[in-house]
Amino acid sequence: MLTGGPLSGTYRLRQIHFHWGSNDEAGSEHAVDGMKYAAELHVVHWNAEKYSSFVEAARQSDGLAVMAVFLKIGECNPQLKKITDRLDTIRIKGKKALFTNFDPSCLLPKSLDYWTYFGSLTVPPLLESVIWIVLREPISVCSEQLAKFRSLLSTAEDEVACCLLRNFRPPQPLRGREVRRN
Ligand SMILES: [Zn+2]
Repeated sequence: MLTGGPLSGTYRLRQIHFHWGSNDEAGSEHAVDGMKYAAELHVVHWNAEKYSSFVEAARQSDGLAVMAVFLKIGECNPQLKKITDRLDTIRIKGKKALFTNFDPSCLLPKSLDYWTYFGSLTVPPLLESVIWIVLREPISVCSEQLAKFRSLLSTAEDEVACCLLRNFRPPQPLRGREVRRN
């Protein structure tokens, strides 16, 4: 559950996912004063108090709250290892790995200071339904861990193998949006 800050009511966790680039220089979807990080974690929540489903919430301006966490190249991250160690087993599109007792809050940095603004999903249909909460402190990731994300395939078993080298959307014009900080 996510509550407080710019949110009214309680938002329920739906899923987490990562964005990365074809090299360690850029892969984040947000930039701080023009600087990009190597990757970005999105922790997606929806307004379960007001709406009856994730799909319904995704169409409302206060429907979703996504916490964004930057990944900065440095030490290998032992918490992230729980995920990256499993990527080899699910390289092919559609494969699954079962996680038990995994609490995604273990991936968050020490400080939860943030920037916030109203924005959109970064994948089609790009609905304007996201209260973004971008954490200011990055977490660490090493090159070897990041390389495991790039080894994932966007193709199924019976298709010609094609690696998912990058999956980030570049920052969009601000268009008068106000970015606030806690
Ligand atoms: Zn995302």
